Amino acid sequence: MVDFGMSGILKNILFKQLISFSKCVAFLYQKRFSYYLNLIYMKKQYALLLVLLVFSLGVIAQNAGPIYDVLVKGGHVIDPKNGIDGIMDIAIKQGKIFKVDKNLNPKDAKQVVDATGLIVAPGVIDIHAHVFAGTQADHYLSDGLSALMPDGYTFRVGVTTVVDCGGAGWKNFATFKKNVIDVSQTRVLSFLNIVGEGMRGGNYEQDLAEMNSKFAASAAKQYSDYIVGFKLAHFNGEDWTPTDRVVEAGNLAKLPVIIDFGGSKPNLPIQDLFFKHLRPGDIYTHTYAALGGAREEIVDEKNNLKPFVLEAQKRGIIFDVGYGGASFNYSQAIPALKAGLYPNTISTDLHTGSMNTSMKDQLSVMSKFLNMGMSLVEVIKASTWKPAQVINRPLLGNLSEGSEADIAIFNVRKGNFGFYDKTGFKLKGTEKLECEVTIKGGKVLFDLNGLANPIYVK
Ligand SMILES: [Zn+2]
Repeated sequence: MVDFGMSGILKNILFKQLISFSKCVAFLYQKRFSYYLNLIYMKKQYALLLVLLVFSLGVIAQNAGPIYDVLVKGGHVIDPKNGIDGIMDIAIKQGKIFKVDKNLNPKDAKQVVDATGLIVAPGVIDIHAHVFAGTQADHYLSDGLSALMPDGYTFRVGVTTVVDCGGAGWKNFATFKKNVIDVSQTRVLSFLNIVGEGMRGGNYEQDLAEMNSKFAASAAKQYSDYIVGFKLAHFNGEDWTPTDRVVEAGNLAKLPVIIDFGGSKPNLPIQDLFFKHLRPGDIYTHTYAALGGAREEIVDEKNNLKPFVLEAQKRGIIFDVGYGGASFNYSQAIPALKAGLYPNTISTDLHTGSMNTSMKDQLSVMSKFLNMGMSLVEVIKASTWKPAQVINRPLLGNLSEGSEADIAIFNVRKGNFGFYDKTGFKLKGTEKLECEVTIKGGKVLFDLNGLANPIYVK
């Protein structure tokens, strides 16, 4: 406050000196003959003006305040998009990544997060979650009781963006937006269900009359800020029509599709799905599921990955985890990873039926892949930059200057941990990810141990 007062007085003095200087110029113009006399006077005026200017600029600089809103200091940054894997500081300003550099000055920030000894990654993107929560008892994952409001399940595990995977359809997207997207701090996007009523369960997801490509595509255009693609799930008939309808919607709106391949008997061949029906950039979710013959599996009876699966990945088909309550088996994942089929994207399939089973949360799923042999960089890439590319959101999932300031800060805990699947098979592991701090849009929204200083910013 004192500085501010001094600055006001200085401005006043400067103003008076400028007036005086102007008068001097006018005087000189009129009285050229007294040139030498006035030159001496002007020199004095110039000198005083210069001293005051320098002094005043110093006072103004002192009053300018911090440059950054938040500074994440001293962490090991892993940003796969930019090939960063080392100790760096990250400065945030106005909700965006402002600067990533070494040794940024904490005095320049309003709030400093001490990330020493921790992993700093882009905010995690879970592209398969079910967050269209509601109170309709017979609506399953579409405004029903089995979906979960996102904020309670995201920031505590480093997730800043979720894609609701087919909960809403083209008939009820507006309800989803009003009740969930608009009231959540988590960034909520949508794979819109090709079925008008969304993932309502029962006969709705078997009814071809509900699967309308044009209506789905037009909803995607209307809500292009939120809808990132289309979903087909749970169809049981031996019929390619639903698959082709969802791809048609994808073609009309120029968006990818994600397939939870149905339980037809006999099974429709996944080789045909990958090579004859889906396009590069389309997503196959529940990659490592063994469903007792309800769907063709990627690993055969002799524990060998079917060779065409790797070919499909090379073709550009995206293999997503979509862990869920029943859709992940080590009997598929271990041989598949050994044969080189790493998931392109790691996701949870979060809902009431998976959150307390072997799935638990995004970090639990990421930790399983870490302990199955994926590197930390690969696990983070499959949970940040790759999903951002898959849903065509290039300002998410990375720490480039100008990108959204979504950041997840992890502790890699060392110890003896058990990672089991739905069959009870348990993999022992020595590393487990734990979320320390989550920043979304430049704001600290979760802080496990109070690493931010100050903890609260006014
Ligand atoms: Zn799902």
